[in-house]
Amino acid sequence: MTDEAGFRTRLEAQAYGLGFDLVGVAALGVPGTVDHFDRWLEAGYHGEMAYMARGAELRRDARRPHPGATHAIVVGMRYGGTEPSGPIARYARGDDYHDVMRERLRALIPWLATELGRAIDARPYVDSGPLLERDLARRAGLGWFGKNTMLINPRQGSFFFLGALVVDVALPIDAPFDADRCGSCTRCLDACPTQAFPAPRVLDATRCISYWTIEHRGEIPAPMRALIGELLFGCDICQEVCPWNVRFAMPSREPAFAPRAAVAGKDARTLATEWLAMDEATYRETFRGSAITRAKLEGVRRNAAIVLENLERMPAGSA
Ligand code: SF4
Ligand code: SF4
Repeated sequence: MTDEAGFRTRLEAQAYGLGFDLVGVAALGVPGTVDHFDRWLEAGYHGEMAYMARGAELRRDARRPHPGATHAIVVGMRYGGTEPSGPIARYARGDDYHDVMRERLRALIPWLATELGRAIDARPYVDSGPLLERDLARRAGLGWFGKNTMLINPRQGSFFFLGALVVDVALPIDAPFDADRCGSCTRCLDACPTQAFPAPRVLDATRCISYWTIEHRGEIPAPMRALIGELLFGCDICQEVCPWNVRFAMPSREPAFAPRAAVAGKDARTLATEWLAMDEATYRETFRGSAITRAKLEGVRRNAAIVLENLERMPAGSA
């Protein structure tokens, strides 16, 4: 490609026009974090998330999941870091990001084909398949891995979704983000109510409230139930306390990520009471196209019962 600067400007315009807030390009190869990921799996920190362990061989080289692909356009889309904290993690208050992001990434394909003057082979990934998107995002210059394991962008914080469009085209790449801007800060590690970080940048999912309230099926052990407090679905604490979010989090531009009426502005007691009373039909209707469906009705009601139990134990006036 001869007009690299011009391409970069047009790619940014196209990506921002589609609603993405970050964009960069990386060459596919062996991820820098693949050993770290293997050690994480070996330690059992993924818990019951068996899908994490699948596709290890494909994950060892980002060129493998989609043969023929050589580069990736990596994007980020903000999801409301300026929203107030509450009983539902910010990412799950609006529509399911997988659908929204995949559709937008697909919209880049005809644009890129026109730009190059040829048909291209491309595939979007959004938290799907054996592709380490966070690793690609760092390589594409979007940010660094915080001690809370999130990718942090120095101008926008970490409240954004990541996605990648892998392509069979040698695009001009961005410089990787090599700096570690966490410095001596340990706020995320200190704030975690369940001490889910055995070390900086290592998350033991089996101690994380997001894991228990979203991924786990069945009963939650008593010690963890108490630590869940008022959190009905997911947990944002280790992101909320991060100074990069405190200073630089920006609102989402995406209407699909705005909190739905069924959850917006409601406190833990109100939501938990509503959720506990839900039948299957109401649940499906309320959360169609929402990430909350991942917990299934059983999980949502289980979480609601725990939160109500915890609220009963709290001294009056603290909830
Ligand atoms: S999401 Fe919550 S429970 Fe999980 S590591 Fe972060 S602060 Fe801890
Ligand atoms: S809270 Fe501090 S240590 Fe944690 S990710 Fe943010 S800057 Fe890094």
